Amino acid sequence: MSELRIVVGSGPNAVAVAHALLVRGFEVTMLDVGRTVEPDIAEVVARMARQEPAEWRADDKAIVHRLGFGEEAAINPKRTFGSAFAYSLDPGIDAPSGMRLYGSEAFGGLSNVWGCALLRARVSELSRWPAEVARDVLPAYADIEELVRRTSGPELFSPTPEGTHLKISPGARTVMRRFRHRATEMDANNVYHPMDVYPTPLAISAACKACNACMYGCVYGYTYNSRQTIEGVFADNPRFRYVGGTSVQEFRETESGIEIQALNQGTDRTEIFRAEQLFLAAGLMSTLRILWRSNSEVARTLEAQDSTTCIIPGFLPSPSAGFDPHHHGQSHLSADLQLPPFEQKPAHFQLYFNNPAVPDGLESRFPLLKRAPMHALVRLANRYLVFGQGYLHSDFCHKLAMEYGRDGRIKVSVKHNPDTARYLEVALTNFVRDMRRLGIVFLKRFADVTPFGGSKTAGALPHADSASPTTSDSLGRPPGAKNVFVVDATVLGASLGRNLTMTTMANAYRIGQRA
Ligand SMILES: Cc1cc2nc3c(=O)[nH]c(=O)nc-3n(C[C@H](O)[C@H](O)[C@H](O)COP(=O)(O)OP(=O)(O)OC[C@H]3O[C@@H](n4cnc5c(N)ncnc54)[C@H](O)[C@@H]3O)c2cc1C
Repeated sequence: MSELRIVVGSGPNAVAVAHALLVRGFEVTMLDVGRTVEPDIAEVVARMARQEPAEWRADDKAIVHRLGFGEEAAINPKRTFGSAFAYSLDPGIDAPSGMRLYGSEAFGGLSNVWGCALLRARVSELSRWPAEVARDVLPAYADIEELVRRTSGPELFSPTPEGTHLKISPGARTVMRRFRHRATEMDANNVYHPMDVYPTPLAISAACKACNACMYGCVYGYTYNSRQTIEGVFADNPRFRYVGGTSVQEFRETESGIEIQALNQGTDRTEIFRAEQLFLAAGLMSTLRILWRSNSEVARTLEAQDSTTCIIPGFLPSPSAGFDPHHHGQSHLSADLQLPPFEQKPAHFQLYFNNPAVPDGLESRFPLLKRAPMHALVRLANRYLVFGQGYLHSDFCHKLAMEYGRDGRIKVSVKHNPDTARYLEVALTNFVRDMRRLGIVFLKRFADVTPFGGSKTAGALPHADSASPTTSDSLGRPPGAKNVFVVDATVLGASLGRNLTMTTMANAYRIGQRA
């Protein structure tokens, strides 16, 4: 009997399941499309990485420090080194315009562009999953943190008195101090905390140079990317093999194992791989396409969970807030709103202070701001600006219906929830009020809301006690499957208010331990 396991993808979930399988002593082959940044940009990145931030040349920065505002609306404006290589848009998807159903065909997947926020969830947030699945995910959080620490350094996720191993802005520190003071008073008076505020737990190396350029991609590789685990941890293991340039098309399950059909992108030829078990971590839309092509028992119409998202601008009227612009450039603080109806499933906000994405976005919308005096003024004002990125748990939101047609096209439509607008109103009103008490003035009327399809979509084939045409079993096996396991966000029960990758990774690891 072959002991080979094939994992599809190289994003965070593929890495999490591969880790569990390697720990168990199996051979693991990772099949991946595996795109990388364009060679001319890679050259510039390598040059900048040999220099200190103060030494970077203006022409190099002009290439690497670019965001994609005003470009393709269905792709996130966040780029890596000015490139959109991390995103892929399946041309066979028919969705309402602007809906962000992109995936990734990159080596490292979307962790090339992500915000590095790795947050644990509460069991109560893992709705629509069997209770024991939700419970069994929790112990795996520690294993994922340990793997990320092995890749990026022991300081990650270790509590420090300030709550983070990284340098955050003076404004964020002021807000944290005020929150802790208020929380102590509330505890003394036995008052329930309507909101929790804490430094965002980030997978960023403690060697971070605090250059505030994370939004453009870290030329030093200090922001965690799952590719780093593959090249830095797995590559030393003789039982591990990475096969890039390989696009998995479909699979067939036989008595003796799995036969996988993949397109070799170098030769444009179909290749067959055989293994005892197959783990799919190609990202929701790619995984669904592979499943639909291969398994006729999976329903042709599935309902996915989706989160309403918003961006809300604000400012911190504190002179000292802008004194020191040297800090990291991801989310500095997180806030969980946990008053009714969000007690069990918090509305989640991430706060960015003095972030270059704000003036970049403003300048792309109002080109006059690019002119010399305005440009400098906007950058100075930005030191006092804060923006919040908020998400509701999918139980409060609209659903997405996904229909696989005979012609191979995937049609996406919205199933409206009449209560979502009211939930969002409650979240924004309370967030603005509670943040004002901590000194940040958020401007609700300028909140930019994406009611559905804003890139947090999950759970089209959620775990259930047993597989059915619309569910997978507790190990992510679709109906009729014995040795095929779906291990990415496709099998989540819900899209959480908090970032979900830590939970999908923990779940992938759990499946890898038990498959
Ligand atoms: C701008 C942005 C910021 C984000 N920030 C955060 C954050 O701070 N915290 C958080 O928790 N999450 C964040 N996310 C979400 C997070 O990036 C994703 O949840 C995560 O990357 C999903 O991982 P995955 O393993 O499922 O695969 P993906 O990252 O989606 O990668 C898919 C992988 O599958 C491969 N693949 C695809 N199709 C095929 C095929 N047919 N054959 C072979 N290989 C294939 C690709 O090459 C790629 O390696 C963010 C996402 C974006 C876009």
